[in-house]
Amino acid sequence: MIKIPMTGTIVEMDGDEMTRILWKMIKEELLEPFVELNTEYYDLGLKYRDETNDKVTFDAGEAIKKHHVGVKCATITPNAQRVEEYNLKEMWKSPNGTIRAILDGTVFRAPVLVSGINPAVKNWKKPITIARHAYGDVYKATEIRTEEKGKAELVFTSESGEVTRKTIYDFECGGVLQGQYNKDSSIISFAHSCFKYALDTKQDLWFATKDTISKQYDQTFKLIFQDIYEKEYKEKFEALGIEYFYTLIDDAVARVIRSEGGYIWACKNYDGDVMSDMVSTAFGSLAMMTSVLVSPDGNFEYEAAHGTVTRHYYRYLKGEETSTNPVATIFAWTGAIRKRGELDGSAQLMEFADKLEKACIDTIEGGTLTKDLAGLWEGATPTVVNSKDFILAIRNTLEKML
Ligand code: NAP
Ligand code: MG
Repeated sequence: MIKIPMTGTIVEMDGDEMTRILWKMIKEELLEPFVELNTEYYDLGLKYRDETNDKVTFDAGEAIKKHHVGVKCATITPNAQRVEEYNLKEMWKSPNGTIRAILDGTVFRAPVLVSGINPAVKNWKKPITIARHAYGDVYKATEIRTEEKGKAELVFTSESGEVTRKTIYDFECGGVLQGQYNKDSSIISFAHSCFKYALDTKQDLWFATKDTISKQYDQTFKLIFQDIYEKEYKEKFEALGIEYFYTLIDDAVARVIRSEGGYIWACKNYDGDVMSDMVSTAFGSLAMMTSVLVSPDGNFEYEAAHGTVTRHYYRYLKGEETSTNPVATIFAWTGAIRKRGELDGSAQLMEFADKLEKACIDTIEGGTLTKDLAGLWEGATPTVVNSKDFILAIRNTLEKML
């Protein structure tokens, strides 16, 4: 068979533990036999990050800026226990955080749907993609707890020396207070990433805050989105027949539950944290959740939403069989390959990505699946297989399609 050529480059970022094992299997069984992969390889495995003093992570981020498309395996974010386990020089920062800071992007998470695994919300028929603004608000807040009475004030001293002062509350007893901020530049990037991704995936975009209560803070988010939409995206949305709309967060929650899915829901930082766990749990399994980082200047980094599946890896090291689900990692690859095809004008690559995704779904719908899905499965008695056999079953389905 002649392999499908790839002219542009995909930045490939290898990772850790069980997902590193799956990564190799996916490449060997599902990609390399069919596609002339043209990747630039960065080893973000913890050992090599430590050897390079984490330079490899920064290099990978810069490479994505250059080539516009990356695919990343799950990686360990070190904590004290990992520093000991890997004898690390330092507690290196989260690679995802580092890359996000380089690309200034927004993360979009969407579930892979298969029939046989039904969402907890019965009318959800299509994926709901959550876009979380991962900057500021309560995550960068400054807090005070007081046991004493006293006056809490919000004070802003501008660069030119002008002082704005407002009373927050005159405490007649103990209490708590909190100072939050966000930046126009970050909200603008968030908005561009959301509008671009909606165009890219031809889906409606919903955005919600609580601007009726938060008349400056949340109102700023609303106005920035509205302004950018009207100036830069309205015509493009109309041409594609998709819609942008803004509503209050409580109204959005009610509409989401009543909807059939098939749109992007942009959320402020805290709402995105909470709602993405709610939505992903209601759709089924973390192992079926994909994730893409989209930067405002059009760079795309694809990955699985789950981690390195440590518990399975320790079992694998003991020689025990594991049934780890590779679907989200495979979809990270197909996302990157499809985007590469789109940027390079290669219909063959895009078609391959579609077929490989369909092969995963057909294999599961045919009743062959990994252990994590068995408990959610509502079809006829499934065949539960290990990771390797599952990947081979997908290959078998794919070969029949090609
Ligand atoms: P995790 O790797 O997502 O795994 C948590 C549990 O979820 C697993 O033990 C497993 O449950 C289930 N699970 C997740 N993915 C699965 C899959 N593909 N197939 C089957 N089951 C799956 O989260 P974690 O254990 O909290 O974190 C492990 C490491 O991953 C940490 O070092 C963390 O820093 C890192 N992490 C990386 C990323 C990233 O790179 N994007 C994201 C999150 C976490 P059972 O054991 O019950 O089967
Ligand atoms: Mg969370």
